[in-house]
Amino acid sequence: MHDDSPQDEWSLETLAIRAGHHRTFEQEHSEPIFPTSSFVYESAAEAARKFGGQEPGNVYSRFTNPTVHTFERRLAALEGGERCVATSSGMAAILSTALALLSAGDEIVASRSLFGSTVSLFDKYLGKFGITTRYVELSNLDAWEASVTPNTRLLFAETPSNPLSEVADIPALAALAKRSGALLAIDNCFLTPALQQPIALGADLVIHSATKYLDGQGRAIGGAVVGRHDVLEEVFGVVRTCGPCLSPFNAWIFTKGLETLSLRMKAHCENALTLARWLDQHPAVNKVYYSGLESHPQHSLAKRQQQGFGAVLGFEVKSGQEGAWRVIDATQMLSITGNLGDVKTTITHPATTTHGRLSEEQKEAAGIAPGLIRVAVGLESQADIQRDLARGLDALATR
Ligand SMILES: *Cc1c(COP(=O)(O)O)cnc(C)c1O
Repeated sequence: MHDDSPQDEWSLETLAIRAGHHRTFEQEHSEPIFPTSSFVYESAAEAARKFGGQEPGNVYSRFTNPTVHTFERRLAALEGGERCVATSSGMAAILSTALALLSAGDEIVASRSLFGSTVSLFDKYLGKFGITTRYVELSNLDAWEASVTPNTRLLFAETPSNPLSEVADIPALAALAKRSGALLAIDNCFLTPALQQPIALGADLVIHSATKYLDGQGRAIGGAVVGRHDVLEEVFGVVRTCGPCLSPFNAWIFTKGLETLSLRMKAHCENALTLARWLDQHPAVNKVYYSGLESHPQHSLAKRQQQGFGAVLGFEVKSGQEGAWRVIDATQMLSITGNLGDVKTTITHPATTTHGRLSEEQKEAAGIAPGLIRVAVGLESQADIQRDLARGLDALATR
């Protein structure tokens, strides 16, 4: 990008392709990789100025790296945030945010249906340092309100939720955070900025596992935090000191991944909606969880704050776990795995894998029924995905 390019005028599709790249003197067209741990200086005086921060520039790749910086600038532009700090994983993004913002005695209020490792981080590790987390139902605003105390510093939500596709009212949570003197962080992993921009809806921070749709092709682990300059300076301090920084190679993969983000997310959504409608009328399916269906209780909220419904959906089959395992085992193409956000469609039985550590009561409270199957719809032909699922489902329907 030329430093005088009109980034303010660009739409999301253009930002995803061109934002953040400052061309070097080599005049390269595509974004380069700088796999270097350190940097050199013309003189002792220049080194002193760079180390002391009087002059901008790179010192050490745990602090800053040009390739990582390109990814950070591009993602910040897409999310509409002032600044982005990249991290070695999505979990490192959440940990760094917590370490930056919270002290002993502070409290988090979080949605109940979070990524499993996020819950472990909050309960098992932050809990050790005197930070407590209360969990509430994602869509119950009264429960959020009732759980906030004068010690609450952070509201944390994943929306839409996984795998039941519940939707949080981001502007309402942002208003609650403001009234309470807390910050609102949204894990935007499932929709990405192509389909939802939490900062424009009032959130203070956006968290990403870049491992998922930002890469989109299952190649690398990484994460990011986006938000205001002053808050991100604290997050940057944690990453630079404690070391969960993103490698230049992974940053380069994510930068190139972002270039196709809009197109991919549109295609993911189309495939998912067609599949959800087909599942919804299938005789072996009791219920489909997807906010793109008109029958979804928060369909109108999803339409209001999202530009698409994403590609992760859940559905419950007849005959409980036995039926679900039959459908999964009858597939020949879909990948049986816990991952998502990939061009390859994945299929998961949450009750015995991603949510396997929950007790029966916890599963029931979280809506993880024995017959629930999660599909993260990829970019293969929709007809092929549907045919692969039909093998097991049709057999189940005629039993
Ligand atoms: C995968 C995931 C994470 C964690 O990201 P990693 O890159 O695996 O560390 C956090 N939140 C959500 C919603 C995820 O799906």
